[in-house]
Amino acid sequence: MRKLIMALLVALLFPVVANAREGANVAPEGRKRVVVLDPGHGNPRPGKVMGKVREADIVLDVSKEVRRQLATKMPDLEVYLTRHSDSAYHANQINDNRMRAEFANSKGADLTVGIHANAIDNTNISGCEVWVLSLNEALMKQNSSRANLFADDGDELDINNLDTKSMGFIKVLTRQLDNEPRNRMFAQQCCDNIKKYGLGSLGVKSGKVWTMLYYLEGHGVLVEIGYMTNPKDLAYITSTKGKTEIATAIADAIVSFFKGLDAISSDDVVVETVASFVEQSPVAEQETLNEGFAIQLISSTCEVDIYDYQFKGYKGRVRLLMGTGTYKYKYCYGSYATREAAKSDLAEAKKTFKDAYIVHFKDGNITTK
Ligand SMILES: [Zn+2]
Repeated sequence: MRKLIMALLVALLFPVVANAREGANVAPEGRKRVVVLDPGHGNPRPGKVMGKVREADIVLDVSKEVRRQLATKMPDLEVYLTRHSDSAYHANQINDNRMRAEFANSKGADLTVGIHANAIDNTNISGCEVWVLSLNEALMKQNSSRANLFADDGDELDINNLDTKSMGFIKVLTRQLDNEPRNRMFAQQCCDNIKKYGLGSLGVKSGKVWTMLYYLEGHGVLVEIGYMTNPKDLAYITSTKGKTEIATAIADAIVSFFKGLDAISSDDVVVETVASFVEQSPVAEQETLNEGFAIQLISSTCEVDIYDYQFKGYKGRVRLLMGTGTYKYKYCYGSYATREAAKSDLAEAKKTFKDAYIVHFKDGNITTK
């Protein structure tokens, strides 16, 4: 089972950049694209406090500067802040974080950027981190211990408390699987841009279920701009220079994100992608047997569109076979009378899905033989 989960993860971590079919976040003609900036916390919860310095104030300053820069860097973009003053949405922190996501959803946000500052007891740890939602990873870690001493109650949801069999959860998981590749690219861009200035980067992180990201419908990440518990980071992120540079890094990443979406929605890229797809697919249509062997590429907890990006060169050429267990949706390629006949295609499939293997099926179900 672990192997199958890994195959799914590998598929997610190395996405196809030009995904012509992804339409959910491409603004229809005429609609302006929307970004929501979410400075974390706000009265009555200041976030991390170091002496007189409050996380809520630093991140509000940075968010306002991002908005100011976007007004000139991308004038067509609609930019919203979840808060403009030192005031949270709701007294309860889970509600507060959820309402920030719902605000973004109500604005039709293509992208939401949560902005926080980090804290940890080891004062040597420094650098920015950018978090993406990865429920699958959280599920895998379900039984391992979680340690984040400084996370306020409500910033994170505990995967153990979520009903992972509910439709609500499955919807969020499906949405996350769709959005994760581009979220990761954006997160990496933020890290790379921030690193150009006065702060190190600890890279893109995932595995925690941030409340705000969980309830988002569009793309989104959570940027931890640096460690308030590290003296050097603190001096930098509280300085005007530091705040401006971090804002520049984030604003530039946002511009790249939307330019990427524009490229994907242009006809040229669609044609090119279709052409390369056809080129990659010289194999003639095979007759599908009622019983035989197939190559399992990935398995999933929920049904996936066979044209989904994660099938890469196999998009549209996979079929669903049912297995058992949590990951019962098995996406397979080919139909072979013998195991031997499947072997040469297996070698090819492994180049893209390294944990692919041969399964036996009968009448649409995985069976053993
Ligand atoms: Zn925070």
